[in-house]
Amino acid sequence: MVVTLKSNIQERQLNDFIQWLNDQAIEAKIIRGVHTTILGLVGDTAQLDINLIRQVSIVEDVVRVQEPYKKANRKFHPLDTLAPVGPFSIGAGNFHVISGPCSVESEKQIETVAARVKAAGATLLRGGAFKPRTSPYSFQGLRAEGLDLLRHARRRTGMPIVTEIMNTSHIPLFEDVDVIQVGARNMQNFELLKELGHLDKPILLKRGLSNTVEELLMSAEYILAGGNEKVILCERGIRTFETATRNTLDLSAIPLIKRLSHLPVIVDPSHAAGLSWMVEPLSLAAVAAGADGLIIEVHNDPEHALSDGPQSLTPDQFDALMPKVKAMAQFMGRRIEE
Ligand code: PEP
Ligand code: MN
Repeated sequence: MVVTLKSNIQERQLNDFIQWLNDQAIEAKIIRGVHTTILGLVGDTAQLDINLIRQVSIVEDVVRVQEPYKKANRKFHPLDTLAPVGPFSIGAGNFHVISGPCSVESEKQIETVAARVKAAGATLLRGGAFKPRTSPYSFQGLRAEGLDLLRHARRRTGMPIVTEIMNTSHIPLFEDVDVIQVGARNMQNFELLKELGHLDKPILLKRGLSNTVEELLMSAEYILAGGNEKVILCERGIRTFETATRNTLDLSAIPLIKRLSHLPVIVDPSHAAGLSWMVEPLSLAAVAAGADGLIIEVHNDPEHALSDGPQSLTPDQFDALMPKVKAMAQFMGRRIEE
């Protein structure tokens, strides 16, 4: 339920109203805009009498939010949310490129790639330490050692690090990770989402292989409901009948999510296509469709990568891509934070 308040109301009247709602186990989130103040009500609002609320003297209007996601809903939070990451912030007009290898493989590999992607203009460094692989016989990641190598690369380059978590029991290992990624395969790991909701840290939530936009927003709602408002959504391609590409990039999800929600949306063209030559056109299309950023896999030697080599750009290819991405982001009116 969203309550629009009249202008020029007294603080005491507002507090009394919020107290009355709290007494009925309803939480009220105050959103102050330039011209209006609104209250987002969360809880079992079905039992509230909408006509009774309409009659409260300070209330201008009240509407029920039909969608099952509340805190993730733009109706609750009309302005874009901005997720602070180190010296940067993602969303609300800022544009960022996150880049790095699929998996952290060695000190030399992550240091080389980090230096190159930073020089090309990426602001955040990605790299998987715990890898969700289809086969148990494939490389599973360097695990805790991989996190140490990422920290080392962060010290060398100053880039905040983004890496995937798969298990609630690993949360202590991720304490100083700048952005925790929840991968597509864990988008509906609700126990994990609940725990991440108790952290004060940005969470990059990737859309599941076969999940709808509404399901993605409901997963974001789990994190937001726990109190963590720093959620960044990621469209990374969905499974369709097409087999020529690894997944199908759902470009329409970008404007759709931005209309339905206030959360930043970034796009992963690498996992979407599974083909390095398609990363450039998909990156540009994603920025043109309104993405707040991109996450792109880069490897110093894609042919010998331990995971996702075929979709990884070389540092030289990434160098060639970045000016085009920046030009498109500027065309779209984004601020490129550096
Ligand atoms: C990844 O980022 O390397 C990854 C495994 O992504 P996704 O969860 O989107 O498949
Ligand atoms: Mn990958």
